[in-house]
Amino acid sequence: MILKVLTFPDPILRKRAQKVTEVTAKLRRLAENMLETMYASRGIGLAAPQVGESIRLLVLDTRPKDENGQVILEEMTELERAIVQPLVIFNPQIIKSEGKTSFEEGCLSVPTYFETVTRSLLVEAKALNIEGKEIHLVTDGLLAVCLQHEIDHLDGKLFIDRLSLVKSNRIKSKIKKFGYTQEEAESSPAG
Ligand code: ZN
Repeated sequence: MILKVLTFPDPILRKRAQKVTEVTAKLRRLAENMLETMYASRGIGLAAPQVGESIRLLVLDTRPKDENGQVILEEMTELERAIVQPLVIFNPQIIKSEGKTSFEEGCLSVPTYFETVTRSLLVEAKALNIEGKEIHLVTDGLLAVCLQHEIDHLDGKLFIDRLSLVKSNRIKSKIKKFGYTQEEAESSPAG
């Protein structure tokens, strides 16, 4: 089932999402629907608050694909290739981060806007998988960028909060005044 994706300035996107205590069948169903919604929107990540559920659940699939839907392994780092995607995780927590990288980010909750954001290059995180078992992830590349972007959503933060104050305020007031009127930039991935 394709879910409605909330957009800035919806107040749910600003709430700190609740931890999951048990991975129930209901939550697994929500994760399935979130994956379906993410793929339908051609996104690479989606956090539960983006579909109106203020809980700490993320789905991610950052694998680059060709026009036939085949994964382009050469465009992935060694660490990215070692992680099975799509990834469904609950209560993700970054325990270590290293280096800096800049990437032009987009967000399904801030459609048509793309801005360069600086984040950690490599992250180590723990989380619960779909079976409720604790897992450990170490990644870099696009998956690391996307993971940090999605965890921000769980803390009520958007990528447009991570720009310079001038730029951030300009974008926010433009959206509040005119809505989403920019043309789609189809090529850039969004989460
Ligand atoms: Zn996003």
